[in-house]
Amino acid sequence: MQNIFNFSAGPAMLPQEVMQQAQEELINWQGLGTSVMEVSHRGKPFIEVADQAEADLRELLQIPANYTVLFMHGGGRAQFSAVPLNITKSSDLSQHLVTGQWSVGAEEEAQKFCRSSIVAKSKEIEGKMYVPKQDEWSIAEEPGYFHYCTNETVDGIEIDWVPKSQSGKVPIVADMSSNILSKPLKIEDFGIIYAGAQKNIGPSGLSVVIVRNDLIGFARKDTPAIFNYQLQAASGSMYNTPPTFSWYLAGLVFKWLKAQGGLTEIARVNKQKSHVLYKQIDATGFYSNNVHNEYRSKMNVTFKLSDESLNEVFLKQAESNGLVALKGHRAVGGMRASIYNAMPLAGAQALADFMKEFERKNG
Ligand SMILES: *Cc1c(COP(=O)(O)O)cnc(C)c1O
Repeated sequence: MQNIFNFSAGPAMLPQEVMQQAQEELINWQGLGTSVMEVSHRGKPFIEVADQAEADLRELLQIPANYTVLFMHGGGRAQFSAVPLNITKSSDLSQHLVTGQWSVGAEEEAQKFCRSSIVAKSKEIEGKMYVPKQDEWSIAEEPGYFHYCTNETVDGIEIDWVPKSQSGKVPIVADMSSNILSKPLKIEDFGIIYAGAQKNIGPSGLSVVIVRNDLIGFARKDTPAIFNYQLQAASGSMYNTPPTFSWYLAGLVFKWLKAQGGLTEIARVNKQKSHVLYKQIDATGFYSNNVHNEYRSKMNVTFKLSDESLNEVFLKQAESNGLVALKGHRAVGGMRASIYNAMPLAGAQALADFMKEFERKNG
């Protein structure tokens, strides 16, 4: 049994059952006498794993047939460039909703390839971070695509509503690196969804991209081949050697999710986990969270101690209680409990209990 709860923001903990299975079959996979890492990606055993992973992902997310699933290299950030390279000309405009560190990063990268604009930024209202609704945005022209981040991993801001294109023609592109598979989605609302794997899918380095077929085939000529959606789609994400071990492990995670009862069930547990923590944070003034209720992340629970001189001792004592990696991102300080799918309810409960006890001793 694992004797710690790992709240790392990413790479993050993976389901224990998955890690155990990967360990058991590490050096003798499918009775082949080798690891899955050591076989050809073009051989039948691996192709079966790859196809099954895609089928399970499609089932979990109810991905319609007119969307292509790609397993690509380069994590979340690679898609900051791949998206504009694949669907814009340099004269096109990309439009961005900026709600934290990751959506800023996507906008800055897009500037290298096309024009870009920001329709709105998250802002503080009475001490709480709030995301302006679509009727509060400033839009001067119809863009080539619209981009936002559904869950800001650093800032703990999650957006549950999906922006709509007024004309119905603008592809909605979403960075879902840190909340994909945490709840059911309506894929049809999006043109492109992408996610770096290391929060809710598997090992880092892999990106999962879900792209509507009518957006494929417009890559500019100078797009690196490995980032070209059309080439990757035509070759089953095997234009070059894919990150095979990550793909295999992602497949195990998808199977695990199905065994948990799928996304409706995992969403129910995720809600409970975050509720336990926010309840503790809100109980008194000892802890605080600066995100408006509507936008509080169910994946990354950020909080501060009212007396920040207690930060170090909080982290130290948490660690000696088996609660690790709670330090907030260096850009925002404070604490952050990342509670992705793999974190059991017992982990969130153990942290809430520790917080309560810490407050009792230090409040
Ligand atoms: C972690 C993360 C990324 C970056 O992923 P890399 O794999 O490091 O490139 C991008 N967007 C979001 C929302 C993330 O959480």
